[in-house]
Amino acid sequence: MAHSAAPTTVAPVITPISPKAIAPWAAFFGILMLVLLYFVGAEQGATAVISGEAVHEWVHDGRHLLGFPCH
Ligand SMILES: [Zn+2]
Repeated sequence: MAHSAAPTTVAPVITPISPKAIAPWAAFFGILMLVLLYFVGAEQGATAVISGEAVHEWVHDGRHLLGFPCH
């Protein structure tokens, strides 16, 4: 009777990501979220960057969901 070797498992090597490596991406996505929050919350009327109601209509449900004053 042949003696079979036990299956071997190799533990994956997980390299931690340093905060220095994450910092630029965190800043980028933070700014992106602020821009998105601006367009959802304040893009209308006198402060509108893009004229017309298109942006306001696109984010209208999100605006109500987040509790921004609307109409
Ligand atoms: Zn509304």
